[in-house]
Amino acid sequence: MRIDVVTIFPHMFPAILNESILRRGQRDGKLQVVIHDLRDYTHDRHRTVDDRPYGGGPGMIMKPEPLCEAVTAIKAKVCPDHGTLPDRCQTLLMSPTGEKLSSAMAQTLAGREHVIVLCGHYEGVDERVNILLNACLVSIGDYVLTGGELPALVLIDCVARFVPGVIGHEQATVEESFMQNLLEYPQYTRPPVFKGLEVPGVLRTGNHQQIDRWRKLQAVQRTGASRPDLVDQSDK
Ligand code: SAM
Repeated sequence: MRIDVVTIFPHMFPAILNESILRRGQRDGKLQVVIHDLRDYTHDRHRTVDDRPYGGGPGMIMKPEPLCEAVTAIKAKVCPDHGTLPDRCQTLLMSPTGEKLSSAMAQTLAGREHVIVLCGHYEGVDERVNILLNACLVSIGDYVLTGGELPALVLIDCVARFVPGVIGHEQATVEESFMQNLLEYPQYTRPPVFKGLEVPGVLRTGNHQQIDRWRKLQAVQRTGASRPDLVDQSDK
């Protein structure tokens, strides 16, 4: 899978992309992430990417021309057949007004060959960008950050875990929090007793049926206590 990111802060990305599982996924050829500087798609001396909002108000708005030009150039290079095979490539615009990122969305995106991620900044992005690029707006939560770079990294990390071969043991994603509208059960490792707290005996019995039953019960209880909204969703 290939992910192209368009940003005015390209230097924010390497620290995250070049470590741990994301680094390994790229090294092993499962994932390719390419970062583009939006200012490379401007044509004036100041490499301008923003302007004042029509109608007044605070802050600046990202201009449509550089973003549209960047996406056109990336598509022409990476997926020249996107006109005939639109499902292969998806353009996303990180925005607090978008659909909230979820495991289900990440799984769907991981099935794409190519995703382009646009990072907003300032007061946001000219509305015509998402219309013209048929972009899907994605939010990482009900709060506002200073820019789309951290949201883009969150999205990349979340999607990468569903790209076959990236985390190495695919079963791990199946039992993880949110996958069956449940939070994960409590996990323990050695030592068996730490500061007076003992690992639940059932986990040390070696009886996998009992262990599975215990884990399921813990997951249900934990979800009911801290995320009852997930339980409601699974009733629908
Ligand atoms: N004025 C906008 C609003 O009220 O919806 C917020 C703009 S925010 C300061 C600047 C950029 O950060 C956005 O264009 C978006 O790319 C990114 N951003 C901020 N919060 C985000 C979130 N929760 N999810 C996704 N992107 C976010």
